[in-house]
Amino acid sequence: MSGQLLISLLSPSIGALFFAAFYLLWRNQPKLNYSLSAALGFLLSAAGFIVQDILPAWPYELHRIASNFGFLAGVCAFMAAPLQRRHIPIPVRSIILLIIATMTALFWFLTIQPNLAARIAIMSVSLVVPVAVTLILLLRVSDQRYSDRLILGVVWFTLLLSMLRPVVAFLLPQSFGNYTALEQSTYWGMVHFSYVMMSVTLAIVLFVAIALDLIDELHHQATTDSLSGLLNRRGFESAANSALTVSNPKRQFKALMIADLDHFKSINDSFGHAAGDQVIKSIARHIQVIAGDTAICGRIGGEEFAILLPDHDETMAADIAESIRRDFDSLTTISIGLVISEQPATLSSLLGVADKALYAAKKNGRNQVFILHHSLEDQEA
Ligand code: GH3
Ligand code: MG
Ligand code: MG
Repeated sequence: MSGQLLISLLSPSIGALFFAAFYLLWRNQPKLNYSLSAALGFLLSAAGFIVQDILPAWPYELHRIASNFGFLAGVCAFMAAPLQRRHIPIPVRSIILLIIATMTALFWFLTIQPNLAARIAIMSVSLVVPVAVTLILLLRVSDQRYSDRLILGVVWFTLLLSMLRPVVAFLLPQSFGNYTALEQSTYWGMVHFSYVMMSVTLAIVLFVAIALDLIDELHHQATTDSLSGLLNRRGFESAANSALTVSNPKRQFKALMIADLDHFKSINDSFGHAAGDQVIKSIARHIQVIAGDTAICGRIGGEEFAILLPDHDETMAADIAESIRRDFDSLTTISIGLVISEQPATLSSLLGVADKALYAAKKNGRNQVFILHHSLEDQEA
């Protein structure tokens, strides 16, 4: 086995390994559809290298059509992966047109007017197109997370590598008049080198992005209540604790309320548990709409909701509490315990006082807002 053959085996072997990894990942997690696109990218380009470098040549060198199809379709599949990940529509028709036009031009310059320089120029341009288009589409995404920026980095890197190929092909003195010359040229070495660099970085970054996406999703599941869509107790405590520890001199007032549906047991008894669930959903939406984006809202018990307003004084907070109570038009009414603090206060002491206020609201006849002021003794208790 010659050294040349071993080197030729390197790119398809790396491609085959990553194909297997991304394919198995997709089989295990079918919703990671972009993992399948990455797998396809590795499969197609590995096949391209095998046809071009390892299998025997076809008559009229037509195997070059097949190998270049593998390279171009492979790059298109690679570029589809980051687009699918951000749910950006893939321009399938333009991709098909690009592939057909490129293959037709290659066929022309292989059989009708054989010209290797023209073929290299055509492939170089065709390979840049999907990378550049993907980069433009990804740059348009407004909420760029850390993993998006990593992927953007790889796409930039791929664009740079694919633009280097024609430079190496045409500016370096070399000859690729025949097969052996092409295989031994700096240009063909550059093709392998850029493929290995691009595919390894793309694979690493995609794996990292998949891991970060899964961590985000698990965190979301662990902190969100599935029925109401609000934070659950754990999510509320974590978000409220961070908001309360932000030292902002403008945030002189803190308000926290606990809202509890009145006689909810009898709603379940009279209308059924499913109807009760609907009431919980609608109060959650209602609270979120009235409290606004700056409020931290959570479902901390069965039919009990906590709302932290980190920079609202008594009048503002009481207005919001009153609107939540008065405007809730459902099978039942709500009682709200509201606590106002002018000093720094811990979440647990605020919750303790809000609970006392809620108890008072219930005792006073329900369907009302009861306000208490947080004192230093509450903090120390
Ligand atoms: P009040 O608060 O006015 O004193 O009376 P209540 O009947 O609401 O009192 P309590 O807190 O004792 O009862 C809460 C009820 O809420 C008990 C339980 O059946 C119901 N509940 C808790 N979680 C859910 C849920 O997820 N869905 C439904 N449908 N009901 C729930
Ligand atoms: Mg209740
Ligand atoms: Mg309750």
